[in-house]
Amino acid sequence: MVFILYPNVKKEKIDSFISGWEQKGFSTILSIGTEHTAVCLIGNTAEVDLDHAVQTSEIVSYGKRITEQYKAVNRTVHEDNTIIRVGGVSVGEGYFTVISGPCSVESEEQILEIALSVQKSDAKILRGGAFKPRSSPYAFQGRQAQGLEMLKTVKRKTGLPIVSEIMNQTQIELFEEIDIVQIGARNMQNFDLLKEVGKLKKPVLLKRGLANTIDELLMSAEYIVSAGNGQVILCERGIRTFETMTRNTLDLSAVVLLKQKTHLPVIADPSHASGIRSLVPPLAKAALAVGADGIMVETHNNPAKALCDGAQSLDLNQFENLMDELKIRAAVEKKEI
Ligand code: PEP
Ligand code: MN
Repeated sequence: MVFILYPNVKKEKIDSFISGWEQKGFSTILSIGTEHTAVCLIGNTAEVDLDHAVQTSEIVSYGKRITEQYKAVNRTVHEDNTIIRVGGVSVGEGYFTVISGPCSVESEEQILEIALSVQKSDAKILRGGAFKPRSSPYAFQGRQAQGLEMLKTVKRKTGLPIVSEIMNQTQIELFEEIDIVQIGARNMQNFDLLKEVGKLKKPVLLKRGLANTIDELLMSAEYIVSAGNGQVILCERGIRTFETMTRNTLDLSAVVLLKQKTHLPVIADPSHASGIRSLVPPLAKAALAVGADGIMVETHNNPAKALCDGAQSLDLNQFENLMDELKIRAAVEKKEI
């Protein structure tokens, strides 16, 4: 249940309204938007008489029931788009932020060469996996803590903010200097990890699980935001369907729906969604066309020799060409790239 307050209500009145509900056993979310201030109740609101609650309060303009279980990430509760700022870069409505880099960090030379090149092409954030979740225990598992050190060195040399995947909560300290913590598809419902990154004061890139619904993705984001960290970027990275010709199926309607349902930024990952290099540029352009706030694209200085996901990685020239095409389209969409 959400109460929309009259404009310019004094803070003391809002505080006493909130504490009244909290004394009755409800939790609350206060959302101060540009158009209005809202107070959302969390708890057994089925027992609350909405009309009575509105009529008996001098500060409430109107109220409505929220059917969705997610509240903090719900656009109905929080009207303004969340724009995430990281190292001078913005992610959210009005921007098309491109994150690029290799699937995994292989060596300092490799990550530096890729970083300098994608930066020249105007990617704003560098990606690179240090801890890799692989289906096979025999596959390359990433450079791990050493890989994070390589990323930090490259961040110092280029100034690019870094995103890298965390696999479990024991790794939190290692990520101290990493700008954005990624939760991968396989960990989307690792609730202990979600609660832990909810305590961080840095952005979290939350990827949709291979077989998770849009609702479940929003509930996972709710875990992080309700734990105190409002800086969540959602990522549609393809879901598993009956189709075998692509690695996954990019669910573009999820991008559109997510933008409607939540105020959080939504990006797409055309690399893991397709698994095929030639599909990446068209899907990247499609993501921009349906309203994504950005993309994450895998790039490599030598895709044929990549230790992970070479078949879906663009080489550095292909990435530059894609960026040229995206820049034209971003201007049409009135988004800053
Ligand atoms: C990745 O981005 O490196 C990755 C492993 O992706 P996903 O979790 O979407 O499979
Ligand atoms: Mn990958």
